[in-house]
Amino acid sequence: MIDRRILLAAVASLPGLAVFRWLQASPARAAEKFEIEKTDAEWRAQLTPQQYDILRRQGTERPWSSPLLKEHRKGVFACAGCNLPLFSSDTKFESGTGWPSFYQPLEGAVGTTQDRTFGMVRTEVHCSRCGGHLGHVFDDGPKPTGLRYCMDGFALVFHPAAPSAT
Ligand SMILES: [Zn+2]
Repeated sequence: MIDRRILLAAVASLPGLAVFRWLQASPARAAEKFEIEKTDAEWRAQLTPQQYDILRRQGTERPWSSPLLKEHRKGVFACAGCNLPLFSSDTKFESGTGWPSFYQPLEGAVGTTQDRTFGMVRTEVHCSRCGGHLGHVFDDGPKPTGLRYCMDGFALVFHPAAPSAT
């Protein structure tokens, strides 16, 4: 029989980070089906720990940590989980938030759900093909859409456009 005091001590010693991550995990999408589905072990094997934390555990990278903030070439930003093209460089803008921001995704590239974690109601954004979490969308973006897709750069991979043959 487990001594209750030992159990409480064990719970109290849980690192704050673990609890934080548990709070981040949103079960809302559990029932949704996607074209690309993999087991947790397969995702872990394929992704870096940081990509896994963001895409599969709804984590958030530290602001200003993504190299893609400084990516200003023409090209396409694709899902780091399944390589589906998500955003064109033409719709990227400087939001000043520390996360790569876009005012519009490519057609049909992303899906959204209501995210009620942390006592806020936000609109979560995920890849329409593998369900990987990408970030959130807010309605304080620039014209023409007025939307701000606030993305985790580590959930994306950049593919530069081929040099024009002129
Ligand atoms: Zn994907």
